[in-house]
Amino acid sequence: MINAKGYAAHSKTDALQPWEFERREVGADDVLIDILYCGICHSDIHQVRSEWGPAIYPIVPGHEIVGRITAVGANVSKFKVGELAGIGCMVNSCQHCDSCDHGQEQFCDNKQTVWTYNSRDKDGSVTYGGYSNKIVCDQHFVLHVSDKLDLKGVAPLLCAGITTYSPLRKWKVGKGHKVGVLGLGGLGHMAVKFAVSFGAEVTMLSTSPSKEADAKRLGAHKFVLTKDPEQVKSLDRYFDFIIDTVSAPHDYNRYLQMLKTDGVQICVGLPPEPLSIAGNSLMRGNRVLTASSIGGIPETQEMLDYCAEHNITSDIELIDIKDVNTAYERVLKSDVKYRFVIDLATL
Ligand code: NAP
Ligand code: ZN
Repeated sequence: MINAKGYAAHSKTDALQPWEFERREVGADDVLIDILYCGICHSDIHQVRSEWGPAIYPIVPGHEIVGRITAVGANVSKFKVGELAGIGCMVNSCQHCDSCDHGQEQFCDNKQTVWTYNSRDKDGSVTYGGYSNKIVCDQHFVLHVSDKLDLKGVAPLLCAGITTYSPLRKWKVGKGHKVGVLGLGGLGHMAVKFAVSFGAEVTMLSTSPSKEADAKRLGAHKFVLTKDPEQVKSLDRYFDFIIDTVSAPHDYNRYLQMLKTDGVQICVGLPPEPLSIAGNSLMRGNRVLTASSIGGIPETQEMLDYCAEHNITSDIELIDIKDVNTAYERVLKSDVKYRFVIDLATL
């Protein structure tokens, strides 16, 4: 086994604290990565606090991982020692079902998607994420990372990036579309960057007046404060698409009303509580309410390559790992600009 260290929570009410654990030896299809940076996703907080159901403790979160390959197994052809690499939300799946064959490993038909942490690998061992110094992973689930971009800002692309890129691509969002981005946090700021890059007119829908200047700097054409009923009223039947990144309960019906006929609201935020939708919110205008879960491995590579080509990274605040619990509190107060990234050199 390989000795590793990281930060873990030992119960849903515990703060994250230093913890030593073991990773498996590098198998024939595996690579070993020295982790350089790991983003903090709101999903980490939901899971550390068992908000999506009971977590497996101790839990080492982190699924926005970039680092450098330090060892490769005998069958590894995709990577060489010394190369940069990334890992997102998944580290394994059956790799032969219909969904896996179509590059949608997050929906493995054999229910063998293995999440990067808080999950059980095929051998029954618990997975531990990127708030740690090293990780072993099957090469299929490891992404190539360009050395052209600032690595710190690349880490969040592995979850916040692909989660917003994938539905915008699926719905062919681009020139001539009016897009509302709901919530300016980690996912929201990437949704703004991608939708603008794809040529859409983007309106930021936010509860935080202090974020207006940043929304515009990120490329949003308009900013609407959702707490102001007058501003909100002006948006009835305005959007072709809304991408909803909100992490807490909110009124979906209010935003559905902002869609044109045949408009689409895509939920990527995952509040713990069930959604409450009035039938009429959808019926009027044949509106579509849908969701999107991360993105498969081939599309994640496509997104990383697109970002390298178009010089897109996440706007981040780099933190020392000892400040991770303070960072969680700030995320919960919507006070993140716009992703915290842990510098693992501080571990
Ligand atoms: P985040 O950085 O905390 O951003 C969420 C933003 O939502 C906040 O910055 C805030 O923006 C807004 N917000 C928060 N509470 C709100 C409330 N009560 N009412 C209205 N707006 C509120 O979180 P994130 O990392 O982007 O993640 C967002 C959600 O997506 C989480 O639920 C996460 O678990 C989920 N997620 C889903 C996937 C997927 O595959 N679908 C992948 C990753 C994450 P303003 O200040 O602008 O209002
Ligand atoms: Zn995430």
